Amino acid sequence: MQLGKASWMTEELLIVRDSVQKFIAAEIEPHYEAWEQQGIVPRELWNKLGEQGFLAPDMPEQYGGAGGTYEHLAMVIAEFARHGYATIAGSMIGVHSGIVNHYILNNGSEAQKQRYLPAMASGEMVSALAMTEPGAGSDLQGINMTAKRDGNGYVINGAKTFTSNGQHCDMVVVAAKTDTTVAGSKGTSLIIVDKDAAGFSRGRNLDKIGLHSADTSELFFDDVRVDGDALLGPEHCGFAVLMNELPRERLTLAIGSLGALEGALQWTIDYIQERQVFGQPLAKFQNSRFKIAEMMTEARALRAFVDECTLLLSAHQLDTATASMAKLKSSELQGEIIDGCLQLFGGYGYMREFPIGRAFVDARVQRIYGGTSEVMKEIIARDILGR
Ligand SMILES: Cc1cc2nc3c(=O)[nH]c(=O)nc-3n(C[C@H](O)[C@H](O)[C@H](O)COP(=O)(O)OP(=O)(O)OC[C@H]3O[C@@H](n4cnc5c(N)ncnc54)[C@H](O)[C@@H]3O)c2cc1C
Repeated sequence: MQLGKASWMTEELLIVRDSVQKFIAAEIEPHYEAWEQQGIVPRELWNKLGEQGFLAPDMPEQYGGAGGTYEHLAMVIAEFARHGYATIAGSMIGVHSGIVNHYILNNGSEAQKQRYLPAMASGEMVSALAMTEPGAGSDLQGINMTAKRDGNGYVINGAKTFTSNGQHCDMVVVAAKTDTTVAGSKGTSLIIVDKDAAGFSRGRNLDKIGLHSADTSELFFDDVRVDGDALLGPEHCGFAVLMNELPRERLTLAIGSLGALEGALQWTIDYIQERQVFGQPLAKFQNSRFKIAEMMTEARALRAFVDECTLLLSAHQLDTATASMAKLKSSELQGEIIDGCLQLFGGYGYMREFPIGRAFVDARVQRIYGGTSEVMKEIIARDILGR
């Protein structure tokens, strides 16, 4: 039984997968543990990912992309996740290539597309998306950051936290209130801030319980002045932009979770056939066999659903509630399956030298970021039952 085989797999995508695997063996595997210890990946990794075409697999060629489909991006993310490199799959490619470049492609002016997309594709520019603030995460309408009109531009004040790629980013898309007299949903705008803007500063690279090599930071904006052309999408319409992009964001997270749990299952299947306990391989015990049978069944069912969502997204037919179901189910199952796999590794599962231990701590955040499981349930329930 083959794990990780998507229904939408093609010969061409298998070639992409092969190139990701070769890159992982040469450029990631030998260094990842050191990066985990250092709490950040080297800046050059972005350029290396860009050279391989992994940062813009589904972006149009005119903007430096590889001109592929969403499945190309899904393949790249799933493969890094399957090998246990969650920082690269989620925080790096997931945010930079799965979210920010699509915000710009779908909502940016031609000048913004020309300025940012080719540089993001090559890794010359690293992007970040800063929505969350110390006082507002799930409730984005409650953000305090303001962008006040000043001549033809804006003056931005406030602080963001938990920003992925915050230390390395060359530009950051922020959500800020451009009209504080109306509800957040009607008075919020998205604005692009370049790293050299006066008044922009980075805080700490935050110390996390997992994703140790992911750069996750506080960002500060103190009277940061930007021109009017830094606005991404129409003024006061930040929420509409966010809503339009949600199906892709949620599905991209689901694909990362699916890749990670399939990888963990494969390591576990291999391990229990090697490991001898009471004179026989662990795989001979009924408990191990039933656990693997149950977890594989769950994984196969999840793959069918996520594959269906992938095809729907490619056909521009994936709605937010269905994408939220995919994110909810994938991230919850990732937690359950990786926990079950770790148990079969015994004490070795708790050792950092085994990737299953890292997969366990890295999995936890999938139920939190990009919208928590509880927020997913709210969205799904609202779709079914109304407000
Ligand atoms: C490693 C990491 C990377 C991140 N990267 C980014 C990034 O790049 N950009 C960015 O903007 N943000 C990022 N985040 C932030 C992330 O999206 C938020 O942490 C998340 O949305 C939850 O917000 P919060 O932390 O403020 O929790 P809260 O909103 O305070 O939630 C606390 C609890 O309340 C529950 N809750 C909230 N609302 C409801 C409700 N309506 N009904 C029931 N329960 C509810 C939540 O589910 C949760 O259990 C990142 C976070 C982490 C940990």
